[in-house]
Amino acid sequence: MQVFTWCLGFPQTFAAGYTPATGGGFLPFSSSCPPSPLKTPSWQIFQSVPTREVPVWADVVLGFRKMTEAELKRFPQHVFGQAFTTLKCETSAYLSWLENRIKASGSLLLTRRIEDLWELQPAFDVVVNCSGLGSRQLAGDPAISPVRGQVLQVRAPWVKHFIRDGSGLTYIYPGVSHVTLGGTRQEGDWSLSPDAEISRGILSRCCALEPSLHRACDIKEKVGLRPGRPSVRLQKELLVRGGQRLPVVHNYGHGSGGVSVHWGSALEATRLVSECVQDLRTPAPASKL
Ligand SMILES: Cc1cc2nc3c(=O)[nH]c(=O)nc-3n(C[C@H](O)[C@H](O)[C@H](O)COP(=O)(O)OP(=O)(O)OC[C@H]3O[C@@H](n4cnc5c(N)ncnc54)[C@H](O)[C@@H]3O)c2cc1C
Repeated sequence: MQVFTWCLGFPQTFAAGYTPATGGGFLPFSSSCPPSPLKTPSWQIFQSVPTREVPVWADVVLGFRKMTEAELKRFPQHVFGQAFTTLKCETSAYLSWLENRIKASGSLLLTRRIEDLWELQPAFDVVVNCSGLGSRQLAGDPAISPVRGQVLQVRAPWVKHFIRDGSGLTYIYPGVSHVTLGGTRQEGDWSLSPDAEISRGILSRCCALEPSLHRACDIKEKVGLRPGRPSVRLQKELLVRGGQRLPVVHNYGHGSGGVSVHWGSALEATRLVSECVQDLRTPAPASKL
């Protein structure tokens, strides 16, 4: 439920022009707003009727409704569907925008590999650990492990609908310059090399949903590792070593939903950092001995 609350922060904050108050309309974006997300008409289709015909996120997306019989005729293997409009975050543009925003605020950006969180002490008072799978080593956390995802990026500019099989394994996701075809969820697999057999399977499954994809060109294989964990770790930890203290805020393990929940999760991490700063400013009570 907490993760769902973080998710609610996404449309309002990421897409600063999105206003549920105006019935889910979009306001013009200002220069201080992030790159405009794509407003994407979407179909989620099922081979059997799901237990929850109206999902918990129905009010987060725009214009949620059940698909009509006419719409479902496109998908003869499927008996039920949900139609809505969602936002697609073009993450490369969005991350660049975030980076520029940090630089513009006068903050310092350093890029380097960290072998041990103690390396950051005493240069930094509080550490925020967002290292995803790196937390296996940095936080000594065996609960975090990869969930491998292989997708294809293709050119098929005529595809405008996001189509997702309810199982979540097959999806067609149009973006600005390409369409993403997915996918896989391979738990515990660290391989970053594309598997040609899997790619053939993805293309075949997606073509079954959208036959025009047979004409897709410029096919590229992509692999990513989701930072999987039974639950997100968002908590404070005070590391103590030889009389030294290092407050750490962990914020990792977002699995397959890190983009959707990033803003809400970051706000909670920021609150925990404020608590750490407050603790640092509070003098330790004098010993009564
Ligand atoms: C195929 C695929 C599809 C996805 N689709 C979606 C989707 O539709 N919606 C959604 O919300 N999410 C999706 N995700 C998941 C999303 O990408 C992740 O949840 C998100 O990237 C996690 O962000 P993060 O910053 O916590 O971790 P990461 O993106 O893994 O970033 C961790 C960073 O820490 C750095 N790091 C690690 N160890 C160290 C170290 N020792 N020293 C220095 N730096 C270190 C890494 O280099 C990396 O830059 C998808 C993922 C995949 C693979």
